[in-house]
Amino acid sequence: MNNHVCPDRHYRHPGILKMMFEFLFPHYCKVCGCRLDPSEEELCITCFLGMPRLDYDMKSINPAERMLLTERSMVRAASVLQYSKESDYRNILFHLKYWHHPKVGQWLARIGATDLYEKGFFKGVDCIVPLPLTRRKEIKRGYNQCMHIAKGVRKVTGLPILSDAVIRKVNSSKQAGLGKYQRWRNAQGLFEVADAAVLQGKHILIIDDVITTGATLLSMIDTVEAAVPDIKVSVFTLALAQ
Ligand SMILES: [Zn+2]
Repeated sequence: MNNHVCPDRHYRHPGILKMMFEFLFPHYCKVCGCRLDPSEEELCITCFLGMPRLDYDMKSINPAERMLLTERSMVRAASVLQYSKESDYRNILFHLKYWHHPKVGQWLARIGATDLYEKGFFKGVDCIVPLPLTRRKEIKRGYNQCMHIAKGVRKVTGLPILSDAVIRKVNSSKQAGLGKYQRWRNAQGLFEVADAAVLQGKHILIIDDVITTGATLLSMIDTVEAAVPDIKVSVFTLALAQ
């Protein structure tokens, strides 16, 4: 874990307009709920510096890769935060997925991607593929949270986002609360490649919010491997349950 993050990268002088905006429309920390100072973005300084960040050396196999490297096309995987049901930091994911604050996903993705970029994590990657939602779920939520994470990664890497190459074709029953085997069974046949030609010969970066058992990601990787035999896959997520 890396808690030694330079605050300068997170905290800049906000400028007079932002200070006035914050006065009229205050923002709150997405972890502890305290009111943010105009110079703070998404998290207060205390929560920001205490984030349970995952720090990869890029030499040994990390826990995210251990879950996914059974797939022949997998190259590398990384997550930004360690996820725990007992930790208040899971509020970040709740804000992103359920409480209509998708910008927090972009923000955290930018922070994680900046560190990984410096380590060469994105080397050789051609494009970003956010994990799709079913059309019905996306309409209900109003957005796909993985698209917002993808935008954060794009901001750092400049990689293009391919959002229509893979689609989610069925409504699965909820994964939360299920055991590993049941999650794996539920995740089978969830995806379909809509445009194999655009993925041909590519190294894609699949984006998801959290890796729990890896069942959903494995299902998507199986699908793209079957449709595009020469594909390479890397994975970036905001959180990893351990
Ligand atoms: Zn806080």
